[in-house]
Amino acid sequence: MKITFLGTGTSIGVPAIGCSCTVCVSADSRNKRRRASLYVEAAGLHMIIDTPPDFRDQVLTFKVPRVDALLYTHSHTDHIVGFDDIRRFNVIQKQAIPVYGSAATLGDLTRIFPYVIRQAPSGVTYPRVELRPIAGPFRIGEVAVEPIPVEHADLPTIGFRLQAEGHAVAYVPDCHAMDEATIRSLTGLDVMILDALRPEFHPTHFNLAESIAILQRIGARRSFITHIGHQMSHEQAQQALSTGMTVPHDGLTINL
Ligand SMILES: [Zn+2]
Ligand SMILES: [Zn+2]
Ligand SMILES: [Zn+2]
Repeated sequence: MKITFLGTGTSIGVPAIGCSCTVCVSADSRNKRRRASLYVEAAGLHMIIDTPPDFRDQVLTFKVPRVDALLYTHSHTDHIVGFDDIRRFNVIQKQAIPVYGSAATLGDLTRIFPYVIRQAPSGVTYPRVELRPIAGPFRIGEVAVEPIPVEHADLPTIGFRLQAEGHAVAYVPDCHAMDEATIRSLTGLDVMILDALRPEFHPTHFNLAESIAILQRIGARRSFITHIGHQMSHEQAQQALSTGMTVPHDGLTINL
């Protein structure tokens, strides 16, 4: 199993448009963060969690050769709006691509991109997908996937636990509260990835201290934060983390 962080930034990305703070003008490439997305390779499959506005650039920069499944955490713009670029993979792979998300998320996807459920006119390429609403644990080939229900803004939002080849990874990029039963259920993880927006409070995301506390309770072998804002540099965030916790940068790959 191999995971690649295609993007580790919050919804506006880092640098933020029009900002001249020390993080936004930093020459350290680790302070340039595309919007949050994860690329998972397991059991011969290439899976993408969320398609941000940066999706085309992410696929080209980090060399994603094909997409066998798309998974969506929720329908906020920074997670969904790069979806249209999936049509290149339809052309390459000559097949429809399964898309997994809650019924609410898939409803928003077809509202935002209404042409995906229509036949493309001759000579025109639309994304071709099979919409698969999630109603509990499911499998993608040999990969076992469990949705992780979380609280985030006012949208139905999930994270994912993926298990294959004797390894388990959980990815929760957008969350401000997780109930006790969910925290206790996240056991035996090689990797846990959780949002940590900034040092200060935020109403729809864990801040750095909250994220560290939850990651410590989950106790994965390796923990990572994501969905990071310009309020903290890569170095500042890393200094605040405890042992076994890492601030990722875009393009970071973990081999399990
Ligand atoms: Zn987000
Ligand atoms: Zn800034
Ligand atoms: Zn969100």
